[in-house]
Amino acid sequence: MDDLIRRIAALKKEKNAIVLAHTYTRAEVQDIADVVGDSFELAVRAAGSSAEIIVLAGVRFMGETAAILTPGRTVLLPVADADCPLADMITSDQVRHLKAQYPGAAVACYVNSSVEVKALSDVCVTSSSAVRIVRNLPQRQVLFVPDQNLGSWVAEQVPEKEIILHSGFCPVHHQIKPDDVRDARKLFPGAVVLMHPECTKETRAEADHILSTGGMVALVKEKKHTRYIIVTESGITHTLRRHDPAAEFIELSAPMLYCQNMKKITLETILRALDEGETVVTVASDIAERARYALSRMLELNR
Ligand code: SF4
Repeated sequence: MDDLIRRIAALKKEKNAIVLAHTYTRAEVQDIADVVGDSFELAVRAAGSSAEIIVLAGVRFMGETAAILTPGRTVLLPVADADCPLADMITSDQVRHLKAQYPGAAVACYVNSSVEVKALSDVCVTSSSAVRIVRNLPQRQVLFVPDQNLGSWVAEQVPEKEIILHSGFCPVHHQIKPDDVRDARKLFPGAVVLMHPECTKETRAEADHILSTGGMVALVKEKKHTRYIIVTESGITHTLRRHDPAAEFIELSAPMLYCQNMKKITLETILRALDEGETVVTVASDIAERARYALSRMLELNR
């Protein structure tokens, strides 16, 4: 592994490249990344980077987002078929149909979506920015796509808006049951439960804090607690341990709390991406322009 790490470091320097990794990637991938973060942090860091090549260690929509925000530079995906099943749960035709049904509504689209869906949206949101952005939208009626769970959580936080939900869900978070959390609490008394808003409403009722992955990192950095039950994809426990090595992080034992697509990314695939310059993310310029509007508005309205 040391040889792989050395070769990746040398290629990054030689090619003026950086690696941005999502918190759900493997521990060894996070360890060689220049930035480890949630979707919002990765989008912001991609936009602010001056590197000629950005290797996005994440799923396809993250690579597309980085490519749209960094025109003229090269964005590489280490694994071309690392997709997000949630992003595939709504099509652009379904968005057009919803817009025709609710002509006065703003379309707020979770970044976990295709570039075509983003191009039809008024604004993109991430789990860390969704509440603030929806609150700041001028429209009272908001079509929230594609994640029903994040959308219902936003609706709870922003009762002054009428939120119309789509039926999409993240297969990793959606299958976690309230009993999975209750059982973990019994086994680990005193632990603080941190949960992602992509979990269902019934399961969210069992949490102490509902937080994006970036929010979880921020809370752990405060070092107010010593024992946590983490209810999101398992990769984040590595990120959290780096921020508070003395604390205990318990991964919920629900089956499949593991995003198979994120775990496709390995050191070998990152090395190959840097070495061979593949796979380059390309987005048609007319679609990129419209999607850039929704992504730029996300950065503006998150204030
Ligand atoms: S954890 Fe869920 S939302 Fe995130 S990439 Fe995997 S399938 Fe998509």
